[in-house]
Amino acid sequence: MKEIVLVKYGEIALKGLNKKTFEDMLTKNIKRRIKSLGKFICTSAQSTLYITPDDDNADLSEVVDRVGKIFGIAALCRACVCDKDFTDIAEKSIEYLSDILSCAGTFKVTAKRADKAFPMKSPEICMELGGILLEKFPNLTVDVKNPEVTVTVEIRDTNAYVHAENIKGAGGLPVGSSGKAMLLLSGGIDSPVAGWMMAKRGVHIAAIHYVSPPYTSDRAQLKVEQLCEKLTDYCGGIAFYCVPFTELQEAIKDNCPEEFFTIIMRRLMMEIAQRIAAKDNCLALITGESVGQVASQTMAAIACTDAVCRIPVFRPLVGMDKTEIIEIARKIDTFETSTLPYEDCCTVFTPRHPKVRPILSDVEKAQNSFDFEPLIQKAVENTEMKTFNYGG
Ligand code: ATP
Ligand code: MG
Repeated sequence: MKEIVLVKYGEIALKGLNKKTFEDMLTKNIKRRIKSLGKFICTSAQSTLYITPDDDNADLSEVVDRVGKIFGIAALCRACVCDKDFTDIAEKSIEYLSDILSCAGTFKVTAKRADKAFPMKSPEICMELGGILLEKFPNLTVDVKNPEVTVTVEIRDTNAYVHAENIKGAGGLPVGSSGKAMLLLSGGIDSPVAGWMMAKRGVHIAAIHYVSPPYTSDRAQLKVEQLCEKLTDYCGGIAFYCVPFTELQEAIKDNCPEEFFTIIMRRLMMEIAQRIAAKDNCLALITGESVGQVASQTMAAIACTDAVCRIPVFRPLVGMDKTEIIEIARKIDTFETSTLPYEDCCTVFTPRHPKVRPILSDVEKAQNSFDFEPLIQKAVENTEMKTFNYGG
């Protein structure tokens, strides 16, 4: 029996003239993601992508697991390939679904007839197949409203397909279809979630991380690299930039009023991020900030940070509660890594009483008391880059 994976497009299905571009991008992302699992042929028709294994040993459950994390997909399932002949459909349904149907109590059959030339109409297929399955599996009764198992028959161009599972896809748009942006990635809970949320909207992510040795350890950096690696499951390849930030932080500490340490540090982070973003064709920055979460995330503080930004700053968590953010972090499996103990450069030289409502002119005056430019340039020059690709 031949088995394939059917992938149903999400929002792409609604696209107009440029639909093909999105489709091609999705297909490319899927191919890259499953390449290490064997040989597959990917074809598309009627807003569905067919992944057909070209060797018998392909691990389709791993394919489903990986493809289920790829953005641009509404739903996916493993399905059995049948001839476009009702007898074959019935025989294969019994064999292919025997495990699931012999354990279930209730079921129903649905049919989709994309090929209108097929001699039986959908209700007829449902009735006939339903009757055959009821006879074969005496444990079953029909429940059309709330069945434990829905058997789906799809009559398409070249073949018919039977399946009984419909797995929800990751939604969103194919990564890369919305251009690239630079994620300010700390080792905390929020920024990996922010990156995942923008990737969901088709944004290709690059990541930037600031380290301040010896105040921050190698272990802290490794933890962020681990988060990057986890994100590749969803985001694909990520260029990771690591910025040496110690001298800038020490210069802030030695030259600026304590109450402005954090806000000036954040402005310098944004400045450096923009310069590296420009080199890597990133059109925006992304942070994990959420209004009111900490002193540097009040509206007044965000305004002072944004004043140095010449490109858009996306803050997808801006209106979310910490509990909602944690829920996503658990779902995408970054939570445990994020909660490992570590030091972030943000926790170095934190002011005892940070200004909660900083005034921009005061911040600018405080920052202008020292010429940070040579140190900014040095940090950009000494930034190191690594690439993370799809794991597995
Ligand atoms: P997170 O959980 O993402 O660390 P947070 O709630 O701890 O966020 P802050 O530490 O104030 O908040 O950081 C706000 C945002 O600034 C982070 O979400 C992240 O985008 C960025 N950021 C903070 N520290 C770093 C760092 N060391 N390197 C890169 N970006 C950082
Ligand atoms: Mg943090």
